[in-house]
Amino acid sequence: MSMTVDRSQIESLVRDAIRQSMSGAGVAASPASSSASPSSQPAGWVDGKPNLRVSISARHCHLTDEHVEILFGAGSVLEPDKDLYQDGFYAAKQTVMVVGPRRRMLPNVRVLGPTRPFSQLELAFTDSISLGIDAPVRHSGKIEGTPGCVLVGPAGSVQLEQGVIRAARHVHLNEHDANFYGVSNGDMMQLVIKSNDCSVIFDDVLVREDKAAKLEVHIDTDEGNACNLDAASEVFLQKMPGDCACGH
Ligand SMILES: [Zn+2]
Repeated sequence: MSMTVDRSQIESLVRDAIRQSMSGAGVAASPASSSASPSSQPAGWVDGKPNLRVSISARHCHLTDEHVEILFGAGSVLEPDKDLYQDGFYAAKQTVMVVGPRRRMLPNVRVLGPTRPFSQLELAFTDSISLGIDAPVRHSGKIEGTPGCVLVGPAGSVQLEQGVIRAARHVHLNEHDANFYGVSNGDMMQLVIKSNDCSVIFDDVLVREDKAAKLEVHIDTDEGNACNLDAASEVFLQKMPGDCACGH
């Protein structure tokens, strides 16, 4: 998708962004757990078992170093505000305004760090409807052929030619968790959420295995709201039915 926003429109949006960036609204993701796990068990395990965490990723963006400087001023770097559950990742103090077609916009979209080789905007379906962008479901980093948008910060704006996606649900885990569930990187799992009157089973949860990962499912705000995640009575992960190695 190609779109343009004229200079004067962007300048007025920049002024709005400066005002709104001071308000500090919006939370990108759950804060890190404060409980340290004993060194005798894998990271993220409790009582000898993987401790499943299901987190809702609110709309957010990832930026390149270059885009951080354009949006927030020469020499700017992301300033960590809150650590995410996955070690080394954080919600930055900075937010951007996202402008879509016909000047529809989302103010205060949180930037997550660290910076990346490509800038990317991750929205829930509802966000993409508000913005007027038909964002496809994609796994992070798979942004070829996706729509673009304009990002506006206090110091400038950036036109992304592509990178607007609805992030596909996935689970971060390490090799100990993978062994526990009998899955490996790239497999799909099923996430079961029991919730009063609105239980949901999510298929197609992609396994993203990494040595440094702690067991955590990421779903978006629409998915979290559909099952009233905050009030869920039980959550668990299992292999997709039919994927069992025993052939049943
Ligand atoms: Zn994730």
